[in-house]
Amino acid sequence: MRPTFVLGRVRGVEVGVNWSVLVVFVLIALGLAQGRLPAAHPGRSAVLYWVVGLVAAVVFFGSLLAHEMAHAVVARREGVEVDGITLWLLGGAARMRAEAGTPGAEVRIAGVGPLVSGVLGVAFTLVAWLLDAASASALVVEAVAWLAGINILLALFNAVPAAPLDGGRLLRAVLWWRTGDRLRATVGATTAGRVLGWALVLLGLYLFLVGPMVNGVWLALIGWFLLAAATVEGRQARVQDALSGIPVRRAMTPEPVNAPADLTVADFLDGPLFRYRHSAFPVTDGGAPVGLVTLHRIRRVPVAERGTTVLADVMRPLAEVATAGPEEPLGDVLPRLESAEERRVLVLDDGALVGIVSPSDVSRTVAWLTSIGPGRRGGPGHRGGERRWGQ
Ligand SMILES: [Zn+2]
Repeated sequence: MRPTFVLGRVRGVEVGVNWSVLVVFVLIALGLAQGRLPAAHPGRSAVLYWVVGLVAAVVFFGSLLAHEMAHAVVARREGVEVDGITLWLLGGAARMRAEAGTPGAEVRIAGVGPLVSGVLGVAFTLVAWLLDAASASALVVEAVAWLAGINILLALFNAVPAAPLDGGRLLRAVLWWRTGDRLRATVGATTAGRVLGWALVLLGLYLFLVGPMVNGVWLALIGWFLLAAATVEGRQARVQDALSGIPVRRAMTPEPVNAPADLTVADFLDGPLFRYRHSAFPVTDGGAPVGLVTLHRIRRVPVAERGTTVLADVMRPLAEVATAGPEEPLGDVLPRLESAEERRVLVLDDGALVGIVSPSDVSRTVAWLTSIGPGRRGGPGHRGGERRWGQ
């Protein structure tokens, strides 16, 4: 799940929002301002209902953010780097650079989210009770009570053992721990996710026909998103497993065309060496890699400044570029490639640039693997399989 727009950074973690959140935000504010609040306490002004409804919707997204930040913080503590979190229809998703190293780490990273939502639910319940006892505005008490309920619902829904929900990660951790096989565990958890997705879609359609129409649309939409996400996750896991037997050096583009750091943007664009060949280039200084530059970044340099701007000014510095070693399994490098903004991984051997991996390198490798068939590549996850590849 990639963010449609980025809100900012919290403790170094990029916080983004997917378009689907806007739909939820509008539905929540509308449901409160036009539904729940006037129904519970009629006779107030429409403006008041909307103000309380909008504030409650904002606080609701704050609690979603707390849930996701908890995942991110625990993941970092477990040594898993987190690039950012994206809020979307079903809550949020943390983009991690790697997978949890052990089933225990996975349990802690996944479990803390529903835990935080549950704690928030209890806290809002207490606040609603205190406000009520202190005779605060009935509308505010109603909104806080709604926040309590929605957070508890969020905790329970996310704990359902079906990928990509947190409960699905817990299920995967348990299966992984019991079988020792990460792929089988992922397949189990994503299958549960697809079953849940279909069940919600069918239930939603049923409600749409016979029951409260809005609830039906709502359920079907959530089911559809779950189904799609579980399917993608299952497919990725299979690809990743197939690629775990291939070292990076087999799939990378070796000796990539690179550009010197002191080259001006104007000379770069004029240079026949670079033109039309690629859209991303490693930048070197005295032969040593120092960064990565993309046409996307180059394009942002105003034409008038292209003669004086050098690549070192516009490149992403090496410390922020995704890198890999030539002998690393390609499957381990995939999450890095997915989360890198440039969608490139530089391959370094003892600090020297030896290659670059792009999504097309990966899809070419996948195409080869599927053409060769499972018998020739040494079975899934078989790291010795690469020896069968001819020179
Ligand atoms: Zn979560």
